[in-house]
Amino acid sequence: MSTIDTEKLDMSFVEEVKNTPGGELITRCFACGTCAASCPVREFDEKFNPRRIIHMVLLGMRDEVLQSDFVWLCSGCAACQERCPQGVTITDLMMALKNIAVKHGIVHNAFAMQAAEVYRYGRLYEVGDLNDRREKIGLPRIPEEPEQIRQILDDTGVGEVAKKIIGEQESGNE
Ligand code: SF4
Ligand code: SF4
Repeated sequence: MSTIDTEKLDMSFVEEVKNTPGGELITRCFACGTCAASCPVREFDEKFNPRRIIHMVLLGMRDEVLQSDFVWLCSGCAACQERCPQGVTITDLMMALKNIAVKHGIVHNAFAMQAAEVYRYGRLYEVGDLNDRREKIGLPRIPEEPEQIRQILDDTGVGEVAKKIIGEQESGNE
């Protein structure tokens, strides 16, 4: 990791995380490392380390945390959360960091692409002839107008990200 630029540290980040659902207990952490030792993602990618991420948040490293890939790598398995001796809700904290990133317009490209598909189709794939096949075996049709889902995405701020990707894809197809 590169040297910390103390000029860029932002202590309001800790407060923002504490005030976001899931992040409330972050200051209980005493850096024992149990979460890092339990994390299956860390076994594959050293740069993802929940203890380090928590430490970076506590230091106020807003940009480094929110603009990094690793916030998006958490699988949500909760192995860390179940073992933390301090009861830090680490899985929920990782979700809180993603939510803060989205609020600031930062979404990992892999998730942004998925959001675009959900915005377009209401799911991760086009329904296509699936409804005809469902009807043939007596199943109800899947609604093809994802208006409610789009509303949810718009209300959470993900809609903007999805629409940007859709716009880029459409202009690339012209
Ligand atoms: S297990 Fe809990 S106390 Fe230990 S480093 Fe992780 S979050 Fe902090
Ligand atoms: S919930 Fe996330 S941070 Fe915790 S062990 Fe699983 S992958 Fe690692």
